[in-house]
Amino acid sequence: MAVKTWQSDMVTIKVDYDKCKGHGDCADSCPAEVYEIDNDKAVPVNINDCVECCTCVEVCPEGAIDHSACE
Ligand code: SF4
Ligand code: SF4
Repeated sequence: MAVKTWQSDMVTIKVDYDKCKGHGDCADSCPAEVYEIDNDKAVPVNINDCVECCTCVEVCPEGAIDHSACE
């Protein structure tokens, strides 16, 4: 499945679907409710609402999320 990429005007989010386990820590902790879990994979369906807090990157235990605002 490899890496999927989503873009808004502000940010780019990449999720490595080989690493993502779909347990939803990202979805549960994102203050903007950017993520939904679909078929056990994180999908940043509301990427336009992202406030660039980097919580999703920090909480993902698999290191599956790459976010353009979070180095
Ligand atoms: S926290 Fe990481 S592994 Fe878990 S659903 Fe989100 S992206 Fe996937
Ligand atoms: S950076 Fe913050 S607001 Fe943006 S998707 Fe991640 S947790 Fe949500």
